[in-house]
Amino acid sequence: MIVGGGLAGLRTAEELRRQGYTGEVAMIGAERHPPYDRPPLTKKFMLGEVNDVSLAADFGALKVEPWLGERAVGFTAEGRTGGVVLTDRRELAFSALVLATGASPVRLPGTGTQRTLRTLDDASALRSALRPGVRLAIVGAGWIGAELATAAARLGCAVTVLEAGPAPLAAALGPRAGAATVPWYQAAGVELRLGQAVETVEPGGLALPGGGWLAADEVVVAVGVRPAVEWLAGSGIVLDNGVRADERLRTAVPGVYAVGDCAAFWSSRYQRRLRVEHWDGALHGPEAVAANIRGSDQLYDPVPYFWSEQFGRMVQYAGHHTGADRMIWRGDPQESNWAACWLSAAAPGQGERLMAVLTVGRPRDLVQGRRVIAGGMPVDTGVLADPGKSVTSAVLAG
Ligand SMILES: Cc1cc2nc3c(=O)[nH]c(=O)nc-3n(C[C@H](O)[C@H](O)[C@H](O)COP(=O)(O)OP(=O)(O)OC[C@H]3O[C@@H](n4cnc5c(N)ncnc54)[C@H](O)[C@@H]3O)c2cc1C
Repeated sequence: MIVGGGLAGLRTAEELRRQGYTGEVAMIGAERHPPYDRPPLTKKFMLGEVNDVSLAADFGALKVEPWLGERAVGFTAEGRTGGVVLTDRRELAFSALVLATGASPVRLPGTGTQRTLRTLDDASALRSALRPGVRLAIVGAGWIGAELATAAARLGCAVTVLEAGPAPLAAALGPRAGAATVPWYQAAGVELRLGQAVETVEPGGLALPGGGWLAADEVVVAVGVRPAVEWLAGSGIVLDNGVRADERLRTAVPGVYAVGDCAAFWSSRYQRRLRVEHWDGALHGPEAVAANIRGSDQLYDPVPYFWSEQFGRMVQYAGHHTGADRMIWRGDPQESNWAACWLSAAAPGQGERLMAVLTVGRPRDLVQGRRVIAGGMPVDTGVLADPGKSVTSAVLAG
């Protein structure tokens, strides 16, 4: 039984079949649409360049029973493995359960109309509202805010982005790397207000601290998401910024797994719990879940990967870093192609290791960087900082 009809849910069904599972498989999805791809929603779909974002799930060929437009509201474990999922319509028995319910956008207080951008229905409604001259206020300069600003500016809207932090993407990348994207907003004709908190969304605009006001025809709140796990309260599943899972994506309840945006899994590589809201995790996590349902002992130990298309640039990130890691530039962030690398000290005297890499228009650096991160070898930071030399050539022998 798979709960969640997004990428992670569909991929779990596909992987179970690919790996030879012959038992019954059912999928419960709260949205009425069959599984679809979210990344185009802020990009080509918003621009009207693409209309079909379907993941082309063939439930017949997969022999999967889809319960779409139906919401799971709880489950009870019975016996050693197995139990019953309760939906808003019926009870469905399971012998193994996969939690793949993704995440839901955070909303702001206030009585005005605020849009969020998570679903196909959200994106369709917003797309028809974005006409030339429309005053669009976007709260939050994270990945979604930046991508939406890109599309809306191209559609001729008057776009203002309000960001409470000191730089775009500061929460994900830190203020130094995030600040390198500020000129992109200016060049696209988007007004970016940094350090600008928003108090409430009101009819006709945004109430700002100190009595300030920003008039807007449309308001999109893009201040982050929370894992969609409220329905699991009291089920025995441990909730800890998502569904707490181990390094094999198993939860504390036998026979129950978590995958995709809702899973807070233990990373052996980083020795900490990660919850990764990236398409790549929803794509590959199901391989481990399916294998483990089938009785294997497969570790899920990714170097996380994410991409974003904003202001005409391909931005890619691989790895995981914390504020304690040292950042160096690879190239000049004022140019069109550059990268940032985060380094962590290895054991004393053993040099620094590459923890994460952000690339702008340098896909080869991303591919090589991800491999170097996975290998965990010490690097020569002088070579790494030189964009004329390959990332792999920075690896220190021995
Ligand atoms: C607009 C947008 C653009 C993005 N762009 C990128 C990008 O460029 N690069 C990138 O790496 N990532 C991107 N992402 C992130 C990526 O799409 C997600 O990481 C991915 O969709 C996660 O898949 P998932 O299956 O875990 O969750 P979801 O896709 O959220 O699917 C979960 C599904 O479960 C359903 N559900 C929730 N609760 C219940 C319940 N109780 N019962 C039944 N069903 C339930 C939900 O309705 C939803 O359909 C983007 C996301 C969005 C929203």
